[in-house]
Amino acid sequence: MRRATPAQESADTLLDAVYQVVNALAAAPLWEDVRALGIGSAGPVDLAHGSVSPVNIPAWRDFPLVESVSAHPALAHRPVVLAGDAVAMAAAEHRHGAARGHGDALCLVVSTGVGAGLILDGRVRHGLTGNAGHLGHISVDFDGEPCPCGANGCLEGIASGTAITRHALSLGWRPPATADTPAVAAAARAGDTAAVAAFDRAARALAAGIAATAALVEIDIAVVGGGVAQAGDVLFSPLNHHLRRYAAMPFLRHLHAVPAELGPDSGLVGAATLAESAAPAAANLLIDGRR
Ligand SMILES: [Zn+2]
Repeated sequence: MRRATPAQESADTLLDAVYQVVNALAAAPLWEDVRALGIGSAGPVDLAHGSVSPVNIPAWRDFPLVESVSAHPALAHRPVVLAGDAVAMAAAEHRHGAARGHGDALCLVVSTGVGAGLILDGRVRHGLTGNAGHLGHISVDFDGEPCPCGANGCLEGIASGTAITRHALSLGWRPPATADTPAVAAAARAGDTAAVAAFDRAARALAAGIAATAALVEIDIAVVGGGVAQAGDVLFSPLNHHLRRYAAMPFLRHLHAVPAELGPDSGLVGAATLAESAAPAAANLLIDGRR
């Protein structure tokens, strides 16, 4: 089941939406078999304190999500496992999707923002606070536009769906009805020069970020999901082309980008995967605190 998490509501109203999901899960016949509960939340997260501060949900700042969900009577003593949503997606693609069989991989979610998670030595890399892989906020254009995070020229500001649409419009693209990323992708597929250029610029930024990551920790595959990846070849063709340019070192010659396999529920699947490791040999359920 799904419940909206309206961004402008109070912290308690948002928690109530989460509780409604737990209520529904607890009423399901399989609940007795559930041994752990996984949460994939928009970040930043703080795994040490079990708290979340999703950028798009102002009412939740250092919100104690693990403690709050654990306090639900139906949970009893079941462990509650928190992860960032992109890290959860990486866990899912590694276990069940396009990164299966790869000991080292980078998994990206490119939609209204750009998130990513890392698999290193066969394991999900959470980082000290749970925010490892924040690829959207590395600078790929040092003198570029200011980013809300405080830096300049962040990858997210160039490669997100919003940025692609904005750039296409600035180059003279005329939207059919709604100016959104699927419309830019359709125009690019039809050969519209501005739309092609907008995807090419996003692909170049993504390639620079992926190549830098690969040079740093040696990965051979980048799995790209999220709404922008739905553009298919319009994105992946320039992306792999630019990867060849930026990942120039001989040890990076196998690096390539592929579409994610698990679709919009990959965060849920990943949260379950991570919860499973907290409760071995157990079934599990999950909550998605997605944006
Ligand atoms: Zn930034």
